[in-house]
Amino acid sequence: MTISASLRRQVVERADNRCEYCGLSQAGQEALFHVDHIVPVAAGGQTTLDNLALACVSCSLRKGAREEVVDPQTGKLVSLFHPRRDSWHSHFKWDGFRVVGLTPAGRAAVGALQMNRPLVLAIREEESHRHRHPPPTS
Ligand SMILES: [Zn+2]
Repeated sequence: MTISASLRRQVVERADNRCEYCGLSQAGQEALFHVDHIVPVAAGGQTTLDNLALACVSCSLRKGAREEVVDPQTGKLVSLFHPRRDSWHSHFKWDGFRVVGLTPAGRAAVGALQMNRPLVLAIREEESHRHRHPPPTS
């Protein structure tokens, strides 16, 4: 699926150049963040602004084509956090360098996307010295 340069630019600007799942800033990362289809193309998702989100490589690859993931607290399948429809701060909060899921969708996303892997925690600590963590609240 080809995403035009202008569409990519709009997605990047709207996301403030951060992963819309884990909040990581593209600024300090070598790997180019993905423009992710929230509803996968295979499931009928369109390549339009309202179905696209900026995602770091780690979140993008772990999300893959999934729209539902398991809430580790209840074992139930829940809708994955949807960056266009859901507010990040309603589903997640920061606890230092860790992302904490506040809702079933939030907990499920933290688990499925492995948002608190040791490497990511180390990157967030580094980013805090550059004033890029935590992300500014919007
Ligand atoms: Zn991410």
